[in-house]
Amino acid sequence: MTPQIQMTVALDRNGQITSINDVQSGLACGCICPSCGEPLIARRGDKNAHHFAHQGIESHCDAWGPETELHLRAKAYLLSQQFITLPSCNFDKKPFKLPISKAIQEKQLSPTGRIPDLLLEIDHELLAIEIAVTHSTTKQKRATYRKHSITAIEFTLSDFKNYDTPFDDAFFAKALDINRASWLTVDLFSSLGLEIFKNETKSRRRQIEILDQGLSESEKQVSKRLRSINTEIKKASSELHNLRMIFEHELNGAAGAAMKEYEARKAEQEARIDKALSLKTKELNRLTRDIEIARQWESELSAVNEKLREENRKLKKEKKALLAD
Ligand SMILES: [Zn+2]
Repeated sequence: MTPQIQMTVALDRNGQITSINDVQSGLACGCICPSCGEPLIARRGDKNAHHFAHQGIESHCDAWGPETELHLRAKAYLLSQQFITLPSCNFDKKPFKLPISKAIQEKQLSPTGRIPDLLLEIDHELLAIEIAVTHSTTKQKRATYRKHSITAIEFTLSDFKNYDTPFDDAFFAKALDINRASWLTVDLFSSLGLEIFKNETKSRRRQIEILDQGLSESEKQVSKRLRSINTEIKKASSELHNLRMIFEHELNGAAGAAMKEYEARKAEQEARIDKALSLKTKELNRLTRDIEIARQWESELSAVNEKLREENRKLKKEKKALLAD
């Protein structure tokens, strides 16, 4: 269960934060509601925890809420402190503790400007404190501080929106921690502002150096990997070259063998053709000779026939002569 947050701080007639523990009971407290400005009654009985209440039994204030209490209690806490712990810069926060010589509530910076929650005087220099409970500082606030050359820091307490923690000194000692604080502006003409600026620059430079080292380390790794890849490529390239040589050699061998086989077959074929040709030539020669012989015979036969016919004619003539006789 979330405890009911009650109003334990209010504003006195001068607008100063006042605790229920420091006022008279009832209307005599002379306090007003920090949100609506209505007079308050201090309830300091024995039965309940001491608190401020609006006048009237059932009266209700819409303006006031637990965040008002948180905001005022945080301010009251800082006002009561003799030291404040601040972050060395925004980038790489390291705590440093400074003595507060004076705490001033709500001093208006200019007629139109805003009022800081608190102004602390530290070593004769002013430091504006903002306590953000519901929303953090706008650009406009930052611009105002810059314009007035005021170093300002903001504590963000918005993560306590559930208000389930008792708002005591122990709570604020923890809540107003450097990790919840951010520098809004730094005045470079103040020693505090200059120191924070220097810390910020130094931290960032150190971070860059660390990044650089990391980068050069990863560059080394990449370079190593590239060298190894290069070696692998060379090796693969050499193997490829060897394979090509082997392949070409084998290809040449195969071509040589094929050529040899072709030559052998060609020679064999040629020999076969030669042989066949010589046989045919012989056969042709024989035939030619046979034809010549046959022609010779024919011619001789024709001569014999002619002779026979001559003989026959002669015989016929002789027979005729004989018959005529
Ligand atoms: Zn009120």
